[in-house]
Amino acid sequence: MENSSTGNLRVRDLHVYYQSRSGLVKAVNGVDLTLKRGERLGLVGESGSGKSTLISGILRTIKSPGFIAVGEVLLEGQDLLKLSEAEMRSMRFNRISIIPQGAMNSLNPVMRIKEQILDIYDAHGMGLSGSEGARRVGDLLTWVGLSPSVANMYPHELSGGMKQRVCIAMAIALRPQVIVADEPTSALDVVVQRQVMETLGRIQQDLQASVILVGHDMGLMAQFVDKIGVMYAGRLVEMNPVREIFSQPLHPYTQMLISSLPSLEHKKLFRGIPGVAPSLLTPPAGCAFHPRCSQALPHCMTVMPEFREIYPEQWVACHLYEEDARHA
Ligand code: SF4
Repeated sequence: MENSSTGNLRVRDLHVYYQSRSGLVKAVNGVDLTLKRGERLGLVGESGSGKSTLISGILRTIKSPGFIAVGEVLLEGQDLLKLSEAEMRSMRFNRISIIPQGAMNSLNPVMRIKEQILDIYDAHGMGLSGSEGARRVGDLLTWVGLSPSVANMYPHELSGGMKQRVCIAMAIALRPQVIVADEPTSALDVVVQRQVMETLGRIQQDLQASVILVGHDMGLMAQFVDKIGVMYAGRLVEMNPVREIFSQPLHPYTQMLISSLPSLEHKKLFRGIPGVAPSLLTPPAGCAFHPRCSQALPHCMTVMPEFREIYPEQWVACHLYEEDARHA
């Protein structure tokens, strides 16, 4: 097993909270994860489970009244949370980049594609001359499977899939080591989704970048990622190689999710399971999943299980996998 200290990205005990009038909402409540260079991680969870807040925390794009309460986000050993705003701005796109949810709607409608791409180089102090800029933009568009002629077009002249490819081109313009993609293809039809994901996969391999893919489509996850992290109530409750997640899920929540998927051959959306997702303002004591768990033990109601590596590369937060609990 590769030593986890060689991880390209390490998140340690990250807590991201929102101050609401009713109190503190613990949207991310102690997340640890390691992503090795070139690895692809899928993040799944019901809405409100904290996955989007987690990636905003990693990228330091949390907006008030949200804030990072504590934790570390180490990119090749450098803690992003300790950087100044200016240092963090230069990290974005350069070392860590995001393809945000609904990215294609974020393109500026009154700017040509090449101007939007060149803005990224400008913002990072790499203003390119006319011919050099045109060449770079053309190469970038070709890389994401578009014709260089797209450079002179406006967003409204492009299909949804083409716009999403432009967003990928922008995200990789500075060759980042980590690419975070938040439901990057959810607005596209199935065929275009697969094509765009194949392009993203090819580029990720070219760059040997790590990818965090946030999504609901378990079929897409099964095809694209190496491992899946399952979030529940602001915490990771399981992290497992993709094969094991589907064949031998560990956490009772993951087990219920997987058993609710009729077939992996077909596109299946992550819809969650029966019961109500817990309030992050007043989460249940102990294991937050205990009100919905058919395997709950008495102390599940009072003691929060630790997120532990119980087999190599297989992590779970559940008392069922603690030696003393099994014999209780
Ligand atoms: Fe269920 Fe207890 Fe495991 Fe939580 S810790 S998932 S309640 S068995």
